[in-house]
Amino acid sequence: MPDAPRDLRVLILGGTTEARRLADALAVAPRVHVTTSLAGRVTDPGTLAGDVRVGGFGGPGALAAWLRGHRVDVLVDATHPFAATISAHAALAAADSGTELFALRRPGWPADPRDRRHPVRSLADAAARLPALGVRRVLLTTGRQGLAAFAGPELDGLHFVVRTVEPPGPPLPRSTHILLDRGPYTLAGERALLLEHRVDVVVTKDSGGSATAAKLTAARELGLPVVMVERPPAPDGVPEVPDVRGALARLGLSPGACPAAADTCP
Ligand code: NAP
Repeated sequence: MPDAPRDLRVLILGGTTEARRLADALAVAPRVHVTTSLAGRVTDPGTLAGDVRVGGFGGPGALAAWLRGHRVDVLVDATHPFAATISAHAALAAADSGTELFALRRPGWPADPRDRRHPVRSLADAAARLPALGVRRVLLTTGRQGLAAFAGPELDGLHFVVRTVEPPGPPLPRSTHILLDRGPYTLAGERALLLEHRVDVVVTKDSGGSATAAKLTAARELGLPVVMVERPPAPDGVPEVPDVRGALARLGLSPGACPAAADTCP
């Protein structure tokens, strides 16, 4: 008698809403075994569907060994668009181990002609741009890593409202108000935040996605400039899908694999 076909084994590199939603969908899909890998940066990542492993692999060679050892059929890089190191490692490890790879990467935020958007290449460039804008009070939503770029004495005259999920460590700008919060954010809430803190510029990364987009609309309404750090380049040759539906199609599964929850397959 021929062997029964084995489950499709999928490893999701996670840390994003999309990764979570894909795991939700795959965990209930027939003949699929899904594991999500988290870097372990967030203290309480919440419950994830399917299996979960936490912590770095130890570089691309070790990731390739993990893929071979766990007989992974498909690697899905669903990490944040700014998590460039793990994406590069995923591309190397997939090639090394002969594992199929694609990226689930949400599109960046489209520019609106009414935006006062200042695109920059890095956090350092964002910090360097601020003095020329003649601003005093900054909403900084670039995450807790890399805040040292804004801590130099040349920005001592500015006040920073720093919004992060986990408390940031030093060095921080001299005048800093920390807001610990996690999206999704509403337009009314973002408008109120900008007004309450008398913010006159928003500094953010082009993360994309609806959960954190309201600050851009609020800034546009108030006529505030937005310094936008552009995405690092994605690894060459890795196919990309923009959403969970695309990921399911790429895996040969119908969107019907999504649980009924309306927001599971954006
Ligand atoms: P990174 O700079 O690209 O990666 C640094 C190292 O962290 C990698 O070399 C890898 O260690 C480990 N790593 C990263 N993601 C991993 C994962 N999903 N599973 C296992 N190991 C992982 O990453 P990062 O920018 O610090 O982001 C870390 C995590 O936070 C990512 O999973 C990402 O999706 C999430 N995140 C990042 C941002 C952001 O703005 N960067 C925002 C929201 C969420 P080894 O080399 O030892 O394997």
